Amino acid sequence: MNKQLIKQLESLGALKTGHFLLTSGLHSAQYMQCAAVFEHPRQAEQIVKQLVALLNYKIDTVVAPAIGGITLGYELAKALDCRFIFAERENGVMTLRRGFTLSANEQVLVVEDVVTTGGSVREVIKIVEDHDCTVQAVAALVDRSKGQVDFDMPFHALLKLDIEVYQPDQCPLCQADLPLVKPGSRQI
Ligand code: ZN
Repeated sequence: MNKQLIKQLESLGALKTGHFLLTSGLHSAQYMQCAAVFEHPRQAEQIVKQLVALLNYKIDTVVAPAIGGITLGYELAKALDCRFIFAERENGVMTLRRGFTLSANEQVLVVEDVVTTGGSVREVIKIVEDHDCTVQAVAALVDRSKGQVDFDMPFHALLKLDIEVYQPDQCPLCQADLPLVKPGSRQI
C-alpha cells in the first residue's frame, strides 16, 4: 500500500474516512471520489506521473470511457505524448462519437479512473478491437476489484483499494453510533 499516495488522496478530499451511505444502500468506512483528484490540476499531474512510471509501452492513442476516464486519460495521453479520445454511451451502447476514430493497427492504452467490475473498460476494449487495433494494457488510478477483474492483458493501477461494505443491520459503524453521511453524486 502506497502510504504517501493515500495521504495525497486524503489531502485532496478524494479519499475520505467516516461512515458513508452508498447508492447501493450499503454502508462503508471509506469513500473514494476520483474527480476530486482532478480538481487540482498540478497535484493531479504529480499523481498521474506516478501511474505513467508504471507504463512502458509505445502507445498511439489513449481511449477512455466517459465520464470517469476522461480527465485521467487526457493527462496520461499528454504525459505519453500521444492522441486521446473517449468513448461514451449512445442509447446505452458504448461508442465513439464527436468524429473520434481509430485507424487499423493503432496501439492503444485503455484508461479508467476506478475499476470495480471492469464493465466499461471491457466495452472500450471491444470498440478498439473492432477497429483492428491492439490494446497494449489497461491503466487506472484505483483498482477496487479485489483482484476479481481479469482483462486478459496487463492491468496497471496506481492504488489497490479494498473498501469494506456492510449491510446496515450488520454495520459496525452504526453500532458505534457514528453519524451516517451520504456523499456526492457517485459512490464507488
Ligand atoms: Zn452503518
